Amino acid sequence: MNKQQCSIEPRQSAMVDTATRKALATLQAEFALTGHAMTWCADDDGLITILVSRWVFAREFDSIEQARAFLRQIGGPMNDITEINRVRAALHADDRPARCWGCFQMRAPAPGWLVCSYKPHNPAHPSLVYLVCPKCAKSQKAMRGARRAIETKARSIAEAAR
Ligand SMILES: [Zn+2]
Repeated sequence: MNKQQCSIEPRQSAMVDTATRKALATLQAEFALTGHAMTWCADDDGLITILVSRWVFAREFDSIEQARAFLRQIGGPMNDITEINRVRAALHADDRPARCWGCFQMRAPAPGWLVCSYKPHNPAHPSLVYLVCPKCAKSQKAMRGARRAIETKARSIAEAAR
């Protein structure tokens, strides 16, 4: 099966059951959140081919499981949260202070800080990584505030770039 066939929706065969169609639609929405386009098609035996693409990049998968594993690998969908000590070395070799997006204080990152990734619904807005201090990490209100603040930031970056 080739990529051209895959982009032709009407051929999506009657061999694919409703549950599979729903799973594929969910997967498609999740890929969209990461800025990837996903299409699929099925042959006469009901075998599925899934095509995921972004700009010139394209990959094919033979099953929903494979495509889902790839989605996990690229970090989708929405708002992954990791503890800072895992990625600390990549952020700072020293202890320069960082800004917490919950309370907007500058503090030295330490274990307990969270590294959050914001992936916008609007593909024109940038994905951003932001930090939350241990105190704010424990507060749902502060986490919501941080998310709102980073959303506003992403929007203003997108508007400045226009
Ligand atoms: Zn904070």
